[in-house]
Amino acid sequence: MEHDSSDVLVVGGGPSGSFTALNLAKLGCNVEVLEEDSGIGLPCHCAGHLSLRGLRRLGLYPLPRRVVENTYCGAIFHSPEGNQFRVHCSSPITCSVNRVLFDKYIAKLAQEAGVDYLLNSKVESLIIEEGFVKGVVTERERDKVRLPAKLVVDAEGVSSRIVKQTGLASPRHHMLLKAVETETENVRDTEEDTVEIFLGEKYAPGFYAWLMPTSDGKAKVGLAAERGNPRQLLKRLMFKHPVASEKLSKAKISHISFHSIPVGGPIPKTFLDGFLVVGDAASQVKPTTGGGVIFGMTCGRIAAETAYEALCKDDFSSDFLQIYQKRCQEKLEADIRFMLRIRRMLYALSDDKLDDLIDFFTKIGLEQTLQNLEEIDFQRLLLLRTLWNPRIVLAVSYLLLSYLQTKH
Ligand SMILES: Cc1cc2nc3c(=O)[nH]c(=O)nc-3n(C[C@H](O)[C@H](O)[C@H](O)COP(=O)(O)OP(=O)(O)OC[C@H]3O[C@@H](n4cnc5c(N)ncnc54)[C@H](O)[C@@H]3O)c2cc1C
Repeated sequence: MEHDSSDVLVVGGGPSGSFTALNLAKLGCNVEVLEEDSGIGLPCHCAGHLSLRGLRRLGLYPLPRRVVENTYCGAIFHSPEGNQFRVHCSSPITCSVNRVLFDKYIAKLAQEAGVDYLLNSKVESLIIEEGFVKGVVTERERDKVRLPAKLVVDAEGVSSRIVKQTGLASPRHHMLLKAVETETENVRDTEEDTVEIFLGEKYAPGFYAWLMPTSDGKAKVGLAAERGNPRQLLKRLMFKHPVASEKLSKAKISHISFHSIPVGGPIPKTFLDGFLVVGDAASQVKPTTGGGVIFGMTCGRIAAETAYEALCKDDFSSDFLQIYQKRCQEKLEADIRFMLRIRRMLYALSDDKLDDLIDFFTKIGLEQTLQNLEEIDFQRLLLLRTLWNPRIVLAVSYLLLSYLQTKH
């Protein structure tokens, strides 16, 4: 079966795909989003912790009240032995969104702007003619349907099956963390406006665990790790961590999901003739935190602008589309490189060194320096803006020294 041609087909109705489609539709393009699931946002596997500044930059904040579960003014970082370092700002800097409702909200904005959504439409493969991507083949109700398009945007998330067909490197060639996310009830002793982060080889080797209070003793609790079984690590956090075990001793998990997070930095090439890759499929994720929603949508907007220009010029060649990658790099690359370095240093530290580091940050009063924190997406920028402060210099030097002692 063959379907009428679209300007642009977007594969995947997650935040990156829907935001790309929304921006294309606003520019007057004819766009369809193909989503394999029967509903947008399902199944949910994300904590939905987003920076308010990042959302504002994308023109998405304030969000509707039903989408936002809570807002946070700060965070407590716990070392494996229970030392604490706290950052607290005078007003909220981040929020927790209900990811199902968030994804549905972005899709609704896109639909209102004119985007068509085809649900239950799993893209099986790309149509490639003489090296050019010319559309996709989907499976709907067991029928194979050919959908021609001038341009295909791949926003299928970390599974990146289509990227593999093209021969481009997929996030799987880079670093993937195994992650678990839960909705948990009966959580005690939390501060409603504070996220808690648990560091340490014992609980989340190579990354961290989180506890985000939402409301009425409920919280999102999860972790991501380079090694180990996420379910076992979560159990250990809940029963053995000196601080988390107290808060979670009576906790009941009402929902649990498992998924991967790509944190190795963007894939080397994100364009081909007639084809662009955005979001987790391109590994456009913050290497320090695993947050991919803001960066994925930031690149989605750049993809939409590039696709629009390609439509105006009727030029879908990779020679033209490479500008997409250049623009994404201009926006994100320096920060992502910086975060990759910080990640390598921080998560290489032994549990003893982490205990000392957190203790040192508290002793030098680092929390006072970070009281007016706003920028948390672009972390290199945050450091550059605060480097005049001797406490920051001390903190960075201590981290560097601890890393060098670990390595040598
Ligand atoms: C446990 C965990 C916690 C996280 N917490 C946070 C957080 O707090 N903050 C944050 O910013 N990020 C977080 N992330 C990362 C975040 O979930 C991703 O970066 C984000 O969802 C990427 O959006 P996306 O649109 O690129 O991909 P996705 O959200 O994965 O969307 C891809 C969509 O494509 C569809 N699809 C896939 N293949 C096909 C196909 N062949 N045909 C049709 N449809 C297809 C899927 O069904 C899906 O709807 C977390 C991730 C995990 C695993």
